[in-house]
This record gives sequence, C-alpha cells and structure tokens, in this order.
Amino acid sequence: MTSNKISDIFGSMVFNEAVMKERLPKHIYNALKKTIADGTPLELEVANVVACAMKDWAIEKGATHFTHWFQPMTGVTAEKHDSFIAPDGNGRVIMEFSGNSLVKGEPDASSFPSGGLRTTFEARGYTAWDPTSYAFIKDNTLYIPTAFCSYSGEALDKKTPLLRSMQALSHQALRILRLFGVTDAKRVLSSVGPEQEYFLIDKDMFLKRPDLIYCGRTLFGARPPKSQEMEDHYFGAIKQRVSAFMRELDEELWKLGVLAKTEHNEVAPSQHELAPIYSEANIATDHNQLVMELMKSIAAKHNLACLLHEKPFAGVNGSGKHINWSMSTDTGINLLEPGDTPCENAQFLLFLVAVIKAVDEYQDLLRVSVASAGNDHRLGANEAPPAIVSMFLGDELTEILKALENDTLYNGKGKTLMEIGATVLPPFPKDTTDRNRTSPFAFTGNKFEFRMLGSALSTAEPIIVLNTIVAEVLSQFADVLEKSTDFNKDLNKLIKTTIKNHKRIIFNGNGYDSAWVKEAELRGLHNLRTTPEALPALINPKNVEMFIRHKVFTKNEIYSRYEILLENYSKTINIEALTMIDMVNKLIIPAVLGYQKELADLIIQKKAISAEIPTSLEEELLKKISRLSECLKTRLDHLYEQTIEVREIKDSLALARAYRERVFAAMNELRLIVDELETLVSSEHWKIPTYAEILNSVM
Ligand code: ADP
Ligand code: MG
Repeated sequence: MTSNKISDIFGSMVFNEAVMKERLPKHIYNALKKTIADGTPLELEVANVVACAMKDWAIEKGATHFTHWFQPMTGVTAEKHDSFIAPDGNGRVIMEFSGNSLVKGEPDASSFPSGGLRTTFEARGYTAWDPTSYAFIKDNTLYIPTAFCSYSGEALDKKTPLLRSMQALSHQALRILRLFGVTDAKRVLSSVGPEQEYFLIDKDMFLKRPDLIYCGRTLFGARPPKSQEMEDHYFGAIKQRVSAFMRELDEELWKLGVLAKTEHNEVAPSQHELAPIYSEANIATDHNQLVMELMKSIAAKHNLACLLHEKPFAGVNGSGKHINWSMSTDTGINLLEPGDTPCENAQFLLFLVAVIKAVDEYQDLLRVSVASAGNDHRLGANEAPPAIVSMFLGDELTEILKALENDTLYNGKGKTLMEIGATVLPPFPKDTTDRNRTSPFAFTGNKFEFRMLGSALSTAEPIIVLNTIVAEVLSQFADVLEKSTDFNKDLNKLIKTTIKNHKRIIFNGNGYDSAWVKEAELRGLHNLRTTPEALPALINPKNVEMFIRHKVFTKNEIYSRYEILLENYSKTINIEALTMIDMVNKLIIPAVLGYQKELADLIIQKKAISAEIPTSLEEELLKKISRLSECLKTRLDHLYEQTIEVREIKDSLALARAYRERVFAAMNELRLIVDELETLVSSEHWKIPTYAEILNSVM
C-alpha cells in the first residue's frame, strides 16, 4: 500500500471530527462539540440531527445495522445488533435511526455479570452513548461506543468508572496547575499507549487442542527441544504468513482510526507485539478492545489462531500489555515532562512525587487491577515483572531526589545544590526505556510504563486505579498548598517529605532477582502472589473510601466488582479442571493404552517366535508407562474429587482460595505425569500437537 493510500483509508470508517464538520449544521456541530468537551448532556433535538447524519453516512458506507457497543465486566466487549429498517406503512421499509436510539439502548442485560448489583437495584440495565469516543463502522454495522449502567445509575461496565477517573484526575491536577499560575488549561487528560503482546499459531493445530479452544492456554505439554533459548526470534525477520496478517490488521485498524504503529516479533517463538501511538485513556481502551477483536478475526482469515492468554505455553515467555501512561493539559503540556525552567521543574517534581506516593500507598490496588487467573501464571515467572509493585526512576533521577531530600550536592556534571523553584534541574537521560525491563512500573523520560497488566485484560482497570490514586494524592497536595502563605517554602517541604516517606517504593535493581523479594519484604512492600491473595485489598476500607471520595465507584459498585472478580477466577479454574479431565479421559488415556497394547503385543509376538529374542526395551518401556498410568489414574481421581468437593463452598473468597489451593494444585500434579508420558508415548498414538509442533507451526 502506498503512503497516499494510507492517508486516504485512515479513519475512513470513523464518524470523526472531519465527518461531523462536513455533515452537521454548524449549531448542531457546536452543541455536540460542547458535549464532548464539557460532558454536558445532549439535547434530544441535537441527538436527532446527529443520528440522522450518522445513519446517512453509515448507509453510504454499506452499513445496514447499528449496535450499542459496550464493555461489561466480562472483560470483552458486547454488542446487540439492530437493523435500521422501519416499516413505512405501505408494506415497504425505510431506513431509520432516531436520536433516542443513538443516545440510549436497552440490551437484554440479565446475563452479564453484575456481582449482585442488578438484583438489589434494578432488573435491567441500559447503554448510553459516550460521545467522546467516535462511532465507527465494522462488518456493515454502525458501532456506537456506550457506557453500561443499571437504571439506578450504578456502573455495570468498565467505561463508566474509567470516564469518572479521568474527570477526577483532571479536576485535581487543575487545582495544582492553578497554584503554578497555569490558567489557560481547562482539562487535564490522561494518555495511554498500550503495547499488546500475542501469539499466532496455525489454526489446524489450535483446533486439535481442546485446552486452547476452551481455556486459551495449553493445560499439558512437555518442554520443546528448542524454544526461546537461542533468542533468535526477538526482532527477527517476520515470516510471510505473519506479515500478511500484520498488513491486513494494520489496514483494518487504520480504517477504524486506530494508530497502529509498530509490529515486531517478541521473545518467544510465534510471539509478536503491536503498539499504537498513544491517545486519550478512554479512546486507548476502546481501541485496544478493537485491536484484540481484530487480531482474532483477521487471524482466522489467514488460517491462524491468535492467542491472547497471558501464558499459553508453560515454560515459554508469557504475554503482557504494557500501559504507557502520562498526564497532559488540553493545551498540550505533558505534566511528566521535566521542562527547562525552575518553575516547570518544580511543577514536574511535584507531579512526579505525587505518582511515587500514589504507587506506594496504593500498591495493593495496582496489583488488584491486574489480577486474573491467567495473569497469575505470568507475574513472577520468566521475563515478567514480579507480583511486587515497585518503581524504576533510573539512577540519575533517583540521585537528584536524594539530593533534594537531604539538601546535599548532586554529583552530576559538576556539583550542584538544588533549590526547588529556584534552580534548574540538572540534565538526566530522558529516554530510559530500555534500561530496566524488569521493573513493573518504570519512568521512561516523560511517561510511566506499567508492565504488570496481562495481555488478555482490559486496560480500563489499571488506568482507573492509576488515575484515581494520583488524583487522591494531588488533592492532598492541593489541600496543603492552597492554604499556604509561603508557596515556595511549603512546596519544598512537601516534596521533601514525600520523597522521604515513599522512597521505599523506588527500586532500580533487577526485579527478577530473588534477593529483591527478600529486600521488598524488609521494606514492607506487598507481595500478593495470586489473585485470591490480592483481591481482598479491593474492599479494604481505605481503598473503598478513596474511590468513593473521588466519585469513581460507589460502595456497592466496588463490592459487586469484588464478587465478579472472585467469581471469574473460580470459574476459570473450574473450566480448566473440567477440560483437563476430559482431555485425559478422551485423548491421553486412549493414547497411553494404545501404545501399551502395541508394546505388549510385540513382546508376546517376539516371545512366541523364540524365547531367545531380547525384549528388554519393550518391557522396560511398558513397565515405566504402566507405572505412570497408575499414577495418572490416582491423580485424575484426585482432581475430579476436588472439583466436586469445592462446589460445596458458599463464601466466594473461600471458594476462590480452594480453587487455587486444591483444584489448581491437583491440576499441576496431574500435568506432571501427562507431560512425562508425552515424552515416552509414540507420536503415532499421541494425537494432540506438541509444543514443538505448535510453536513452529507458522512457517
Ligand atoms: P517500548 O517497547 O520501548 O516500550 P514502544 O514504542 O513499543 O516502546 O511503545 C511505547 C508506547 O508508549 C507507544 O504506544 C507510545 O505511543 C506510547 N507513548 C509515548 N509517549 C507517551 C506519552 N507521553 N504518554 C503515554 N504514552 C506514550
Ligand atoms: Mg514498552
């Protein structure tokens, strides 16, 4: 595709700024813009005109249906399609789309998880247009991004609290900016660039593995003779089939206005990454959902399967989603940019220490925001950040903070005594991106990169937490500084005490080193290894009150989310356990028995010919496999019993714990035996594709 053509297709399926300007009467356009900018409600008359223009535009582009697209707590998007047709009274149809249908929808929501919210409040929920995210056309359908709430206004989705958290951050950051004399900014935006990792494998292989189909990950699989040891895949040449997939993916994403930018191979064989150019948090989250959806559907067209699970293959690098996050004014100033003048430096330092304090005080919430059964396999494992939240600032910036805290000289280029607000910060390397890949939360020059999120998860949760905890600290800072009679003195004091009280969260060393786990414990940092261990932090009163204070969640909403997360966890393990049992019964046992029969027959046949013919190989093998088969049976029975017994547990936290400690543990025991059998049983009998076959399936 030529670059001319790219600019032609970019955003061609989006009802964006340019289309609105072209198709809406000026006063309607202005009213809509005001709604988008200030969040003011949209008048029905305006909505009617917008809906009509949207419908005409969509029909010209071949759309026949529309859908309210929303993000329920399942973590994936949902949609209910309606066609534009309406009877014209003469036995024919006209194409119709009203302002009401644009602004509000009523999906049959009873089957979406609500964590008890709907039973206590309202039976039905509704979807409401989010005009800050553009409508678009996909598969001949006009997609309208919407929020999903109960009739009493409780959020049943991920978008609603995300939008609220953006507001909270904007409000508090503006209070701080006013103190620094910034008067022109009307809003502070949170920006996000999510890097998405994924695996691409051959679809025929995928279809032969019920575990990949039902669980998204392999439940069995012996280590391949060659996987990532050679590190020859990382940034290696992209294979033809993969590059055809990537080309089509880019093109489809561009049409939808997604700024897909970089595509490269990742560490593990068959693993890749896509990073878009960053955008506003809400848009970035919508776009990341589209990225994940399109990856799956376009892969299928190329007879490939896209795996978004955090750990599809044990022992092979897992997939994450790095959240690059920053705050900037609507006038274009990045608040995490150090700047050049003493005043800009002081402002930067205040925002920087606010993030440090927020991450330290709410480590547990950040951990909760990435907690899932899938991500538990990845956190703390090969190549991934540990389950401990810590922050990387780089040696230079850490030294600068130390000098500030202690009023000592900074030993950069020449010794400098730094006075906040009076001297210019000494230069420090801006792009520290590649300097510490082991840190879960790294400052990379003018943004932070949070690396704990799993590849399958929505970006909404960690952004909600980040925005809200930073808003909380900024509000505390603003409370102090707004009352101050000597701004510079109090600012200095505030920055210094914040560094002193929260520097324990800063760690520039190797996060994968086991010594760090010990040191983190001495520093009093959390190490919440699993989802059931992490989730109770969500309902810790300190955290609940903080969310309520910033109007991001109500108490009910938090408790409902807590229930949903626990339930998701237990359900996931349960599905995995049942899939495992089924695969052992239908695929593993027949393979093992078939091979044993072959060996036994051979021994008998040989002996029938002559007792002289040696049979020690067959006999040894048969003995070994028979012993393992006995063990297989015991462990299979044990797993089965555990899945039955835990069902009696009523309390949702106790249930999730039991799934972890009993069912998941039994699964691991069973897997060990199956993986050993895989190395012994002939491939004629072993029907499920091996790791080596799957990971090298795309040539
Ligand atoms: P790396 O792999 O080195 O971390 P990438 O280029 O893959 O870097 O991804 C960096 C991501 O960070 C991109 O999505 C980029 O758009 C995003 N990004 C850059 N600047 C900002 C910023 N100020 N705020 C948020 N995200 C940003
Ligand atoms: Mg990165």
